[in-house]
Amino acid sequence: MSRIVYVNGRWVPEEQAQVSVFDRGFLFADAIYEVTAVIDRKLIDYAGHLARLKRSLEALSIPLPFTDDELLGLHREIVARNELESGLIYLQISRGAADRDFLFAADMAPSIVMFTQKKNILENPKWKTGLTVKTMPEGRWMNRQIKTVQLLYSSMMKMEAERAGADDAFLVEDGYITEATSSNVHIVTKDRRLVTRHLSNALLHGITRASVLSLAKEVALQVEERAFTVLEACDAAEVFITSASAFVMPVVRVDDAVIADGRPGPISQKLLEIYIKDRMASAI
Ligand code: PLP
Repeated sequence: MSRIVYVNGRWVPEEQAQVSVFDRGFLFADAIYEVTAVIDRKLIDYAGHLARLKRSLEALSIPLPFTDDELLGLHREIVARNELESGLIYLQISRGAADRDFLFAADMAPSIVMFTQKKNILENPKWKTGLTVKTMPEGRWMNRQIKTVQLLYSSMMKMEAERAGADDAFLVEDGYITEATSSNVHIVTKDRRLVTRHLSNALLHGITRASVLSLAKEVALQVEERAFTVLEACDAAEVFITSASAFVMPVVRVDDAVIADGRPGPISQKLLEIYIKDRMASAI
């Protein structure tokens, strides 16, 4: 079945969905996006994704022509129109279309696109085996807290990691891990501290990261928000990543270093379980 996609106020089959070649998202990556998970037709962690969407738009001075209720209504409608039991909703907003110029008018109408991806999000085979990752130099821009569509470097690094036989890449700046290509990175030290990089413009402020940190006390973990090195990760009791699509995903190898016994650790597995339970209870 062809998906029903939302494009600038219209619901159309995906084959008919179009935006202009002059769209600034296409020409300048002048756009932001959000991804929200759906389980049992309900939205997971929606409040966090909505708040970050507004922060990203405000940082780029792109107006949002919807109230909160209208935007929630569009999310519910795309779930209903696509009979989306489980999967992801992508919301892409660019500054809009205009003749190509670095300068842009203040009153441009943004382009707004929404599409879904069907996915059995509660059955991720990698949760059982964990991921292997390669470290790569951090080469993205300096405002990574904005969820922009400038994903070229991340995509290149993930391709390179795959070519080297790994599942993903950890991006490294001055010896410190910033993020994975599309998720936040965390370590659990041998004395049960959950170390995760502090919020700044060096990383995207993950919605799943924030939710998982709020659940850390349930597994008796003390949270330490600070930068950590590749060496610390290699020497950790556990390493895991978080994102709206993989929730809590264990990492079992970083470059050539096997983490602990090379299998997903008990704390990441417990955090995954608690996260799913807690967020499904608050899903809307
Ligand atoms: N960091 C980056 C670079 C990402 O692209 C993502 C998600 O796409 C994340 C972190 C995780 O953020 P969230 O938990 O809000 O999905």
